[in-house]
Amino acid sequence: MFDLQDDRLPVEQHYRMSEVMVRFPVRCPVCSSESLMQFPVRIVSIILVELRCLQLFATCHRQYWGASDNEMQQIREYFELVYLPILAI
Ligand SMILES: [Zn+2]
Repeated sequence: MFDLQDDRLPVEQHYRMSEVMVRFPVRCPVCSSESLMQFPVRIVSIILVELRCLQLFATCHRQYWGASDNEMQQIREYFELVYLPILAI
């Protein structure tokens, strides 16, 4: 799954190809408390490009749910603001 040739690349490329994580806050649908989720940036970008729904998880209630349109929009904005500049290096 991961690129096994990573350690033969120059540092800049290694950094680009290593698994950068996207972190964003999610709100538990049961108790509304906020927690931080993280996904590999590669997974998030695929989901955003293909307009698929991200599966979210709240640790407090061990609850899974599909991200709503609103949540997907927030994740997209967060991703574009924070991670696109990093990936564009
Ligand atoms: Zn909860």
